[in-house]
Parts: sequence; C-alpha cells; structure tokens
Amino acid sequence: MDLFGSSGVRGVAPGELTPELVLRVARATGTIFEAERVALGRDTRETGRLLVGAAASGLAAAGSDVDRLGVVPTPSLQAYCERESVPGVVITASHNPPEYNGVKLVAADGVELSNERLEAVESRLDDAGYATWDRTGSIRSVENANRAYNRELLAALDREAIADADLRVVIDPGHGAGALTSPELFRELGVEVRTIHAQPDGHFPGRDPEPVAENLTDLGRLVAAADADLGIAHDGDADRAMFFDETGAFVEGDAVLAALAAAELRAGDVAVSAVNASQRLVDVVEAADAELRLTPIGSTYITTAIRELRADGRSVPIAGEGNGGILFPAYRIARDGAYTAGRLCELLAAREASLGELIAPYDEYHNVRHNVAYDDSAERAAMLEAIDAAAEVADGTVDRTDGCRIGYDDGWVLARPSGTEPLVRVYAEARDPDRAAALAAGMRDRLAAV
Ligand code: MG
Repeated sequence: MDLFGSSGVRGVAPGELTPELVLRVARATGTIFEAERVALGRDTRETGRLLVGAAASGLAAAGSDVDRLGVVPTPSLQAYCERESVPGVVITASHNPPEYNGVKLVAADGVELSNERLEAVESRLDDAGYATWDRTGSIRSVENANRAYNRELLAALDREAIADADLRVVIDPGHGAGALTSPELFRELGVEVRTIHAQPDGHFPGRDPEPVAENLTDLGRLVAAADADLGIAHDGDADRAMFFDETGAFVEGDAVLAALAAAELRAGDVAVSAVNASQRLVDVVEAADAELRLTPIGSTYITTAIRELRADGRSVPIAGEGNGGILFPAYRIARDGAYTAGRLCELLAAREASLGELIAPYDEYHNVRHNVAYDDSAERAAMLEAIDAAAEVADGTVDRTDGCRIGYDDGWVLARPSGTEPLVRVYAEARDPDRAAALAAGMRDRLAAV
C-alpha cells in the first residue's frame, strides 16, 4: 500500500494531502463500500473543514448519502458507524503536527478497514465510478453523534465504582476532538474534572497534538498543583490516552498497558501488540500464561491481527501499543482514549490504589526514543543500509517484523522508518537507564552519521 501507510493517508495539507486527493480517495471508498449511507467526521485541524467538503463530494458523487458528524473523536465516529451499520470516513492526522491532515476509513462494524480492503480502495483511485445524476448522494448534518458516543461509554463503564472512588482528574485534550467529549464524560462518571487546552482549536496554541511527555509539561504541573489523582492527555483525534500519576509525574504508556493487561489476561488469552512492545508487556503475558502476538507498528496491523485471532476462536481481551492506543476488543475493536481512561479509573477504584502504586511493578524498565530526520529518498535508503549493517554485527537476536529489532539479554533496540513523517524512529528499552540510553544513542549515531 503506497498511499495508505501504517495509519491511513497522511500529509501536509492542503499542498501535499490535497482536496483533489481526498476527493479521489472518498470516491474510490464510496465505490468499494457500495453503501447507501456513509458517516463523515473530522478532528479540529484548520484544513479539516475544506477536506471534509472534498470527501463529501467524492462520496456523494459515488452515490452514497453522507452523514456529516462535524468534529468528532475517531472512536466517536466508529461508535456511530457500528450503531448505524454504516461505513465511515474521518479526516484526521491523529497525533501529527498541526500542518498535517489525513484520512482514516472505518467499516460498517465500527472497525478500521482491514489492510486488504484498504488495498481495494487504493486500486480504484484512478477508475472509481460515478453515480448517474439521479443516483448521487445527498449530504446532511447529524448533530448528536458525540452525545450518543458518551452515553454509550457511560453504559459500558462502571459509573458507580468510579464515582465512589472520589477521583479528581485533570484532562488535557490538546485542543483536539476529545475536548468535545472527555471532560463531559468524566463529569458524568462522577469524577471531579479540571481541564487544560480544552478548547477545540486547529492552531493547537497550548501544545502539539502528540501526547508525549515533552508536550505535556503543563498537564503535569496542573495535576500536582490541583492535588489531582491523575492526568489524562489525548492526541488530536482522542483514540489515545496518556497519563500522569498523583505526583504529577508522566507515566510511560507501556506501564499503563502492562497494568491494564495484567488485570485482563487469563491463561490461554492472546495479547496483540506491535514490534516495539515493551518487556513489561512480555513479562505480564508470561505471568498470565497467555500469548503475545507482535505485528508491524500501526493500528491497522493490530486490528487485522485481532480479527484473525478471534476468527480462529482465540480470546483477545486487550491489545495496543505503548503510545496510549489501547483496544479492549470485547468492547470494540477500536482504540479509544476515553474508554481506556475510564477502564484505568475502574482499576484504580477496584484496587483502591493510586496510579503510582498501580504502575509500580512495571516501573523498572527505561525507554529511550529518538527521531532521526532524513531529507530525501537517497538519505532514507542510506539509513536503511546503516540499520542492516548494525543488525549484521549485532550480538543479539534480530526480528524483522517491522524495521529491525535487536534483542539482548538486558534490553533491546528497534529502528524503523516512520509511516507518516520523513524520519527514522529509534526505540530502546533496558532495566538500566544508562544501557537504554546507550542502545538508543548507538543506533541514532549510526543513522545520523549517514
Ligand atoms: Mg489518534
């Protein structure tokens, strides 16, 4: 798939991800879906409105009626799709910087399109059909999708247990679509809510959409100052959640995933994660006598693996990555930042523990990440050669599921090109922080020397 990367079509808009391209993708999607009606939503990005117009035109030209949901978290659109049994299109670049935008496609069961179906859409980009004039779709606005989404979350979570825990939470939706849903949801769950960066704003004045520690310093300070129990941060389309503990310290996403997985997994279950999965998750899975299935990095690979495993009769109670994108497939095969945060609140309530106490068993590993940017395809190719060279001389086990993961007794390092940005990502993990830093720096320096 050239166009659909690991997480949909992405690019700087409107120059790279052009309205023309979005219209073609939407028309091909409408042709493949053959649906009478398609849901269409967007996150808060400045270019979202114009790209939604292009997508609506493409879908209607292919003959589908269009339900325009306005600004919605991706999981809100997925909930709408499942509820209405209609496929969907969402204009979002998720965690990417403000100048980016993108397209994600959702099937009529609320699950992201499989790689196979994405390939079918991609193959019809140049010869998608047009409906005749009297069969073109109509376009209407739907007002209450977020309200219905929150009602569904309320019904799926244990409101009584969460309310009884008397939690105080600071929510940072990062000016993204979650600003319209998460603060209200947690108030309705009986949580005392404070907010920061909670106005939807495509300029993202308070922080960048990616929920990583360096973008979330305001949230950490506010959690400490407000004497809150935890902080919750979303990415631009709120399918991810990252957390701060009761001291205002950033919690590694891998530690949260491990804590949630430890509560979910039973013997014989399968957990699905990506090739950058933490040793924390490996340990939790082993302790539960469960199995860990690793996929290439990217949500579509994970959802595809979950569907295949469940079709084989396997139980997959939890899946996801350390970036805060977590799935509870029994609820829906979709990453959902609000549901993940709700499940974490349930766990805190059940254990009568603080977040710091809950993640303490998973705190002994150290993660280091670097991004190494490249300017052109020649430099990218040279970096891939440098990775190959590193793998050849490495005194460890090499996994090529996605990029190159080199495992050692005391840690591992992974290098892989980003699916959405012109850079190679380097990840390393070890019990000893100096070892993790050295593993990551060693790979980074090889790439930077190209
Ligand atoms: Mg996202």
